[in-house]
Amino acid sequence: MNMCPRCGKTHKPEDRFCGFCGCNVTVQNMSNFVTKPAMKLSDIQFDLAILYFKEEKYAESVEVFQKLLKEHPDNLQVIDMLQRAQVALGELR
Ligand SMILES: [Zn+2]
Repeated sequence: MNMCPRCGKTHKPEDRFCGFCGCNVTVQNMSNFVTKPAMKLSDIQFDLAILYFKEEKYAESVEVFQKLLKEHPDNLQVIDMLQRAQVALGELR
């Protein structure tokens, strides 16, 4: 079963367009971008921020975590990782 990258609805492997939002799903099928079912945008952003952190791109990491924090001001994981990224960024300067 394949997943629409835009709305997260499942569709048949032979479908070229999502029946729910009309999104072209053939592009997504060729990549491994969407690996988790029903992934929310914030999850993708969180993974991205973690990736930046691991690659020592702390400025980029802080930027993404700050965006996430606006959406989820009470998410302790985001707050914790933002602080770590800011500390790491400060140590580079
Ligand atoms: Zn869709």
